[in-house]
Amino acid sequence: MKRIIAAACIWDMDHTLYHHPDADIPSFAAATLTALRTLGAPGVDVLTLAQLKSITDYEYRTNGSSYPYIERTYGIARAELEAETQNHLIPNDILPCSELPILFASCPRRHIINTHAAPRWAAQVLDHIGLTPFFPPQNIVYHANHGFASKSTSPSTHQAALALAGCDVADVVMIEDAEKNLRIPKEMGMKTVLVGHHSERNGSHIDMWVERAADVFSLLDLPPDFIVAPANKIAATRQ
Ligand SMILES: [Mg+2]
Repeated sequence: MKRIIAAACIWDMDHTLYHHPDADIPSFAAATLTALRTLGAPGVDVLTLAQLKSITDYEYRTNGSSYPYIERTYGIARAELEAETQNHLIPNDILPCSELPILFASCPRRHIINTHAAPRWAAQVLDHIGLTPFFPPQNIVYHANHGFASKSTSPSTHQAALALAGCDVADVVMIEDAEKNLRIPKEMGMKTVLVGHHSERNGSHIDMWVERAADVFSLLDLPPDFIVAPANKIAATRQ
């Protein structure tokens, strides 16, 4: 079985550290509708929640996200739409993976998040899924702090996450549910793991594919000269 040597893991958060295989977050459509109305998007007064939910679930299943469709259709900039939508999502809707806190506690690597989420939403999600102790605030890279740079088109947040990893780029693995967000990390020299259902699993930018984040841990080996990072010693002793 193929193995990945990694001293540090850079994680995406949404749809990577939790998993809704066939649909978007249950509250996503309602949150999006509220956001579109709040932002004054044209034509949303005739859009029903049922119509929008069928669109967002279809786009999630086929493209991994409905944001590009909504952005094109309603002419709202994605960064603005994401930020407003996250104000209305319900974290209790998310399905936590009960294995993950145990797996993180026994994984003595530096763990970093590189996310398009807003800080408030990220804090709510991590608390709900039981992973707050493993991701102290200084280990989370928010695209809002990098001009809303997209992980698929800009190296900015990837470079910031790599700096936090504090090790050679060849010893870093990035774990993501959106395959397009793995292209730049691969070009930078990181290992890459795609999580989830997406059909594009075999591109040269994808080293491995797994169904769920919990499946990643059994693939990882430590570098021979690895020294446990202090931040992760602290996280491990809190469990
Ligand atoms: Mg994601």
